[in-house]
Amino acid sequence: MVVYLVGAGPGDPDLVTLKAVKALKKADVVVYDRLANEEILDYANGAEMIYVGKRAGAHSKKQEEINEILIELGKKHGAVVRLKGGDPFVFGRGGEEMLALLEEGIPVELVPGVTSAIGVPTTLGLPVTHRGVATSFTVVTGHEDPTKKDKQVKWNYKADTIVILMGVGHLEENTREIMKYKDPNTPVCVIEKGTSPDEKIVLGTLENIHQKDINPPALVIIGPVVDVFKNIKNF
Ligand code: SAH
Repeated sequence: MVVYLVGAGPGDPDLVTLKAVKALKKADVVVYDRLANEEILDYANGAEMIYVGKRAGAHSKKQEEINEILIELGKKHGAVVRLKGGDPFVFGRGGEEMLALLEEGIPVELVPGVTSAIGVPTTLGLPVTHRGVATSFTVVTGHEDPTKKDKQVKWNYKADTIVILMGVGHLEENTREIMKYKDPNTPVCVIEKGTSPDEKIVLGTLENIHQKDINPPALVIIGPVVDVFKNIKNF
């Protein structure tokens, strides 16, 4: 009895780790949600597949329900893989799943993944740090739980590069907040569906990026490193 919490990477099936592939091959059952590329599931031979994500017109399962499913499967099967996009501990609620399983005495094996926050810009040639340009980066959610009373995201980050995940829905409000601390002309690069054949890149500034046509899932990258990328690509 073991549950592997596995990062699936940002989409390109070649960006899955060897450890993830080995866990998928051992799996009796795979629990997954919205993945950038379902081809990754092909690495599991003959395992039962359980989808717990959003379907068109339907709500996704609540986190507590997913935890219950994992606990039940963990008790029943030799090897369960819980597959999550990117890295399981970067906004994936993987930490909560780990704690729920451990509380029930179910062993957990953790398999990190290439997070979209870094992996997607890297595949394009957009470095999140760059000598002489950026010595730090912050990865932040653009969609803090709206039911939270005290907001943890204040937008006054000092890092040279800001990477926003889940940043499309509230892009206008969030960039307005960031402009209280950073120049409105700071360059911004948005990458939709990174590492997939439908990848799209949108360039702008803090001031105008919200006016562009942008659809999720997308990353919002803010800071002078965007100019490094623009120069190599001759945008
Ligand atoms: N654990 C994941 C993040 C989950 S939150 C990770 O480490 O990557 C989901 C958000 O990740 C999306 O809203 C989007 O902002 C970002 N994301 C994930 N995959 C992406 C991709 N292929 N291209 C662009 N953004 C992506």
